[in-house]
Amino acid sequence: MKDYIYKYEMHSHTNWCSACGHNSPQEMAEAYYKAGYTGMVITDHFLKGNTAVDRSLPWEDKMRAYWRTYEAAREWAQGKEFNVLFGVEHYYGDGKEVLTYGIDLDFLLAHPDLHEYPLPKYCAAVHEAGGFLSHAHPFRHAPYLDGDIPPHVEDMDAIEVFNFYNEEPDNLKAAALAKKTGLLTTSGGDEHINTGKAFGNAGVVFATPPKDNKEFVSLLRAGDYKLNVMGETVEKDWGQG
Ligand SMILES: [Zn+2]
Ligand SMILES: [Zn+2]
Repeated sequence: MKDYIYKYEMHSHTNWCSACGHNSPQEMAEAYYKAGYTGMVITDHFLKGNTAVDRSLPWEDKMRAYWRTYEAAREWAQGKEFNVLFGVEHYYGDGKEVLTYGIDLDFLLAHPDLHEYPLPKYCAAVHEAGGFLSHAHPFRHAPYLDGDIPPHVEDMDAIEVFNFYNEEPDNLKAAALAKKTGLLTTSGGDEHINTGKAFGNAGVVFATPPKDNKEFVSLLRAGDYKLNVMGETVEKDWGQG
């Protein structure tokens, strides 16, 4: 029997590329490392969302800003049993966002104005590059969001069924949608600060720790992982009972 013990954060922000982030990539990496994680994906807000990147810069400079953030955390992690992976949280409209994994700088440079693509085209481009998509907090309700607009999950690989900062009924609605659609599930802390409460309480758990974005996506695609929900390791159908 496999031992699912390697914790990875699936959803995190830094102040280099997220306007709502409070800490540098190195500080966030250190916080996850100290909290016992084996890895993390940095998923800063992409250009249509709450980015900290200057939108007036040329495309290449903007994409290098995202990549530099990831590389800074990666450099911090060198020599440690800790894997930093690259992702973005792409805002596609109506208060809805999609967590995007398994893409790299070459992909970003090859797709100018990626953030302006209609969602199906965005998803197709990511999939063509071998990437993986999880719909972030599909039922988050907040004063600034229109809760009546349904999430578009048609082109997703997964649904973020547990988001640490969501309210429980919103997470359970997401789990019900995963059951209905048969999509995979993910869990994320959505942490924006290194003293936050999500550390240890969200993410996915692997039996073998993926070292790079490719290994990471293939384990996700194979469904070879469990979820971390409030510090407990649970099955992927969490909340679907
Ligand atoms: Zn944010
Ligand atoms: Zn987020």
